[in-house]
Amino acid sequence: MYDLIIIGGGPAALSCAITARKRALECLVVCADENSGWLAKADRLDNYPGMPAVSGKELLRVFREQAASLGAHFMSGVARQVQRLGASFMTLVGNDIVESRAVVLALGAARPALLPGEEELLGKGVSWCGTCDGMFFRNKTVAVLSSWKGGVEEAGFLAGLASSVDYYALKPHDLPEDERITLRDGKPLSLEGRDKQIAVKTDGGEAVYDGVFIFRPAVAPDRILHGLPLDGPFIRVDRRMATGLPLVYACGDCAGQPLQVAKAVGEGNVAAISAAEDLAHA
Ligand SMILES: Cc1cc2nc3c(=O)[nH]c(=O)nc-3n(C[C@H](O)[C@H](O)[C@H](O)COP(=O)(O)OP(=O)(O)OC[C@H]3O[C@@H](n4cnc5c(N)ncnc54)[C@H](O)[C@@H]3O)c2cc1C
Repeated sequence: MYDLIIIGGGPAALSCAITARKRALECLVVCADENSGWLAKADRLDNYPGMPAVSGKELLRVFREQAASLGAHFMSGVARQVQRLGASFMTLVGNDIVESRAVVLALGAARPALLPGEEELLGKGVSWCGTCDGMFFRNKTVAVLSSWKGGVEEAGFLAGLASSVDYYALKPHDLPEDERITLRDGKPLSLEGRDKQIAVKTDGGEAVYDGVFIFRPAVAPDRILHGLPLDGPFIRVDRRMATGLPLVYACGDCAGQPLQVAKAVGEGNVAAISAAEDLAHA
């Protein structure tokens, strides 16, 4: 059981972890892929105080090392869902569940672009979670559509259940090398319900499956935590970075503009202090 789970791996999350450790909170940083956030894409920053002309990757490396040296824990994977159960939160990360007393969302501003038909068919043959829904497709035909390497592991898990697994890459990444998994060439363009099955329409035609699993390194904030108050595309927060849901905080780009590293770092610091104060009275 951690005091704090921090979802994200960019400057907001790492700053939050640094201050959380200074406030003696046991914290876990859950990050999809350490180089998938926006900071990793910045070649050079000139407006981060104290580190002129630094590359985004270098800044991230320094932040991460500082958090680790202070005792923050790290876990690689996509946090798909957070649920409050009594006095604690259960966070589903890949196929694992981690427990904490408080949660900080530091997800960045990147939002997954869904395929036409995806949202409407979610829960009706389309799933974003192998662990949650894999069993429904035991001995059935399954397609995995993935934009990143996380889909490879999920496809391996599903191959142990389904009668067949076809794998489509939504974006280039290292593909599975598993004889139980068939790599498909077409680029998925949309999904369509067909009786109790799902048609995956691609630029090369279409194929029909009992189930379609879609994996990306990001999840929309209100899908992670139901009832999260939003303000347009951002999570609504007050000056303490509190979301209004007890012991749930948000910081960095996911909490609004300006989308800047210095602001993300400051908000991560505030979120950690607010969590420490609230946990002391919880
Ligand atoms: C090309 C470019 C240049 C830029 N230049 C500058 C600049 O010069 N100066 C400046 O101040 N800012 C600059 N920025 C903006 C800056 O990078 C962002 O404001 C900053 O990175 C925001 O930090 P963050 O921690 O909120 O989000 P991010 O850095 O985007 O990190 C979010 C992290 O959360 C992870 N994540 C998201 N969802 C999940 C999930 N469900 N489970 C697990 N992990 C998850 C992502 O994989 C990612 O690692 C630039 C951005 C870009 C793209």
